[in-house]
Amino acid sequence: MVAKLLDGKAAAAAWEAELSAKLRGLPSPPKLVLVRVGDDPASGIYVKKKIEMCAKIGITSELVHLPENTSEASLLSRIASLNADKSVNGILVQVPLPKQIDALNVQKAIHPFKDVDGFGPKSMGYLLMGRPRFVAATPAGIMRLLQHYSLSPAGRHCVVVGRSNIVGKPLAVLLLQDDATVTIAHSKTKDLAAITKQADFLFVAAGKANLITKAMVKKGAVVVDVGMNKNRMGKSCGDVDFKPVSSVASFITPVPGGVGPMTIMSLMANTIKAREFQNQKE
Ligand code: NAD
Repeated sequence: MVAKLLDGKAAAAAWEAELSAKLRGLPSPPKLVLVRVGDDPASGIYVKKKIEMCAKIGITSELVHLPENTSEASLLSRIASLNADKSVNGILVQVPLPKQIDALNVQKAIHPFKDVDGFGPKSMGYLLMGRPRFVAATPAGIMRLLQHYSLSPAGRHCVVVGRSNIVGKPLAVLLLQDDATVTIAHSKTKDLAAITKQADFLFVAAGKANLITKAMVKKGAVVVDVGMNKNRMGKSCGDVDFKPVSSVASFITPVPGGVGPMTIMSLMANTIKAREFQNQKE
């Protein structure tokens, strides 16, 4: 078997066209404010890509770049002003944050109707209750990618490797809501291969290059690789040993060009949704 590609670029382009049409129907564009604290180079690249997509699709964006030594109190006060600013629809604080700032305090501070990253406790709570408002961009993008290829996880055994708040946990909840039988594996899981081998759908978000080898994948499985790593040659790669696994899987995401483009488009969709919440009461 040679797996078909789950082409995130193509799926994101189709989604972009849909969102552009929605944006054209609005009286004025929504506004997203991206807050970056410090100079982490990877964060710089992610923020730049998000701003570029906003410009392309027709969302107004603004970057607030604060110094590395910004105190938590000062960041929280900045967020309070953005919460109060009616012209701002979405607020995104890029992670990781410097050590002196507790990310949970920041996520709690963002108004729940402006929480376009979906990391705040209210957004997470609503997701868990089965009434999602804002869903974290990567898991939401993965679900959309599956839909694009008419791949339904209902009734299938889905294994999620990774339990982070931003990928693994919300993804597992979304799959459960779509009637999958879900197993979550993580760094303390014993005999990972015995679990992954059972997966009809395998999602890997561990951040470990080549963690998943061919021997760990069931024939015909759908494999979604979230990982973003650099291999020994400095080339981008995921968590899945792509070529050998492609010979047993039925569908597989490439890295790059799989989950990444869907993540950015999810953020755009969440920003448009934030605009729809604008005049509602909590
Ligand atoms: P994280 O470090 O917060 O979490 C990693 C998870 O993997 C943990 O829950 C850990 O228990 C698990 N894990 C680590 N080693 C393991 C092992 N050997 N076996 C089983 N489980 C193991 O990372 P994250 O923020 O969830 O991101 C995961 C990966 O996804 C990273 O490579 C990140 O760069 C990538 N990512 C990609 C996108 C995208 O848009 N493509 C978005 C977010 C994250």
